[in-house]
Amino acid sequence: MVVDTTSTITVEQLAPGVYAAKLSYVWTGWVELGDGILVIDTGFNEQGARALADTIRARSGNLPIRYVVNTHAHLDHIGGDRFFATLGPTFVAHTNAAEQIQHFLTWGSEGEEEGDALTHAGVTPPPIKKISKRMSYGGAKRPVQVLSLGRSAHTNGDLVVYLPKQGILFAGDIVSNRSVPWMVDPGMDVDGWLKSLDTLLTSPFKVETLVPGHGVISRPGQPAIAFTYHYLTEAREKAAGWTFFVFCLSHYGRHGMAEPGRGNMWELYQAWRNTPKARETLQAGLIGSPETIRGKLAQFEASNVDQVILLNQTGRTSHADICSSLELFAREVMPEFHAREPEHQRWKDDVLAGRVTLEDLDTDGFKVYAHQNEDIVRLTPEQLKQKMAAKEAGKPS
Ligand SMILES: [Zn+2]
Ligand SMILES: [Zn+2]
Repeated sequence: MVVDTTSTITVEQLAPGVYAAKLSYVWTGWVELGDGILVIDTGFNEQGARALADTIRARSGNLPIRYVVNTHAHLDHIGGDRFFATLGPTFVAHTNAAEQIQHFLTWGSEGEEEGDALTHAGVTPPPIKKISKRMSYGGAKRPVQVLSLGRSAHTNGDLVVYLPKQGILFAGDIVSNRSVPWMVDPGMDVDGWLKSLDTLLTSPFKVETLVPGHGVISRPGQPAIAFTYHYLTEAREKAAGWTFFVFCLSHYGRHGMAEPGRGNMWELYQAWRNTPKARETLQAGLIGSPETIRGKLAQFEASNVDQVILLNQTGRTSHADICSSLELFAREVMPEFHAREPEHQRWKDDVLAGRVTLEDLDTDGFKVYAHQNEDIVRLTPEQLKQKMAAKEAGKPS
């Protein structure tokens, strides 16, 4: 078998016995515990994990791999776990992430037919050690704390790895430094994330060196934490236009139109915007990086949707932000969909001419709601007319 070992791996020694290793675009690391190695995340695939294991051996000798700590359950951080499982470590993860990681350890990625190192080794991975608060590893010289910051942040199962004596923090994706934080996990919580970042800025943390999940290592750690904090705050503000729009629709639906010049919808919106419903609304909208938008549009395209109308002028979104968002969309997302338009038109012509008969499908499971929620009261045209007429009649002339 020929193994492609061209994975790029960059290693940085942070302190004696403590290393950070970047596999392509994701940071991993390891700590020498005395009687073995504690590995932090394993990269996104077997090939990277092999390169990481080789590098560990080259730098730290043949110590056994005792622990693999997964900072969270995203594939770019656990993708090498199945390879590391052949080396017999105990896997450590947040209680909320353990099930997903265990599933991956047991079954691998879907669609992998040839089998990987773990399949061939015939090893059954042991149950994951779950952490909901904290655990300590290592001896007095190099104690390692693996801890949850107590809130959902980047996901609902994040852990950080902290070496108090060396002031080194492996933050996982709770911190992205000069790199875009990934904000689309269903368990993600911006408020919890911001509070977690606050926690990292306070005692007992004293972060001299911070290894983020993505981006560049930060010495001291505070600028990287601040970078992520500002990004999250700004992203939340910029996405607020959409949830504000949905809030207003449902508010008017339930309470009717207020007298002009009375009340302040933006103020009313402030309490609502932190509710789970607002979060859900945010995730349903076409908001996010070009990659996120591309994925969502691909779902529409797959169901032969003709047209998607994008609402940009909502909330307090500035003219400049709207324009740059349109430009980004036109440059990075639109062309590929546009290129497939003739194909779609041909299909549509065939359907309309009866050359293609559409199957009668049960579509309930495929309804992709964007702004609808049960709070939005939908009046029939008749009800709407009556309401307008009543309003007209009530107007002082
Ligand atoms: Zn992640
Ligand atoms: Zn990541």
